[in-house]
Amino acid sequence: MTMERLNRLRKQLEELGHEAILIGSSHNRRYISGFTGSSGYVLVTHDKAVLLTDFRYRVQAKEQAQGLDIIEHGTSPLDEVRELLGGWGINKLAFEQDHVTFAEHARWSSALKDVALVPAAGLVEKLRMIKDEAELAIMQEAADLADRTFGYITGLIKTGMRERDVALEMEVFMRTGGATSSSFDTIVASGERSALPHGVASDRVIGTNEFIKLDFGAYYNGYCSDLTRTVVIGQPTDKHREIYDIVLEAQLHALANIRPGMSGLEADALARDVIAKHGYGDMFGHGTGHGLGMEIHEAPRLSKLSDTILTPGMTVTVEPGIYLPGFGGVRIEDDIVITESGIKILTSSPKELICLG
Ligand code: ZN
Ligand code: ZN
Repeated sequence: MTMERLNRLRKQLEELGHEAILIGSSHNRRYISGFTGSSGYVLVTHDKAVLLTDFRYRVQAKEQAQGLDIIEHGTSPLDEVRELLGGWGINKLAFEQDHVTFAEHARWSSALKDVALVPAAGLVEKLRMIKDEAELAIMQEAADLADRTFGYITGLIKTGMRERDVALEMEVFMRTGGATSSSFDTIVASGERSALPHGVASDRVIGTNEFIKLDFGAYYNGYCSDLTRTVVIGQPTDKHREIYDIVLEAQLHALANIRPGMSGLEADALARDVIAKHGYGDMFGHGTGHGLGMEIHEAPRLSKLSDTILTPGMTVTVEPGIYLPGFGGVRIEDDIVITESGIKILTSSPKELICLG
């Protein structure tokens, strides 16, 4: 697995004319090396791959970063990098321009002396967009855990509970089920707060005859799931049903029509056009979906601005919503993978309007 990823990265280095790249950002480092430690650098050339890390990871690095040479660095890893590059006769080094701070760049420049630093954008991120079989298997498990969490919490929510208590129950359930953490701060937004697209659980006490929007996911084995369902506690009014049905129609329409070869913009329009047709276009102010993987938001986006072509192996969310300030809001979100012929849906929680209590 590591070798295949290294080879894909080397192909990119070749295409872009880079001799070597230094990777220090945590997700990219883990993706390329398999090493899950919290610090270290991966130095990759056309024929070498070295993981530089410190004493704390002496054992772990050897176990995890198979196929890479492991070097334990002293107080300054950049000294080792300079020596390695010097020994290989390399005097230009690509760095991850989106992850190296201005201060780090200054430090690296002075430590690497005669080595020219060349900015490189999104090389590993580009590889990460297309998930391999091993990644998809983990993401399916992360999605299954989110589905089980939804089933569990709908049996527990009652009028009078605080949103915060609901979120805690969900997070304990996910942790018990094997998650390292939640993929992001769990959103439990009830009543008029459900109109906040990102209403992280608050002290609000859940009332009755109102929406509760639950948006959450499990960070499991290095990968995220991301699921939203909106339920009603008590009895829904006609207005609740009206906006729920429109969001559901938009989401199902997008799921039925997203396919490889389509742009992120075209996929976004599938959901957006349905909501606009019903007159709520202005109340859907975010993109239809986002890439999902090691990070909760990654490339590609399904939005008005995305020209990325959807390709088999990409994993994205599909999550249209309508938000009516002062009343409430609905979002329905699933995780999908683009396949050769269409899509596979990873999450499978029910989508008919559920009324609790
Ligand atoms: Zn979400
Ligand atoms: Zn999402």
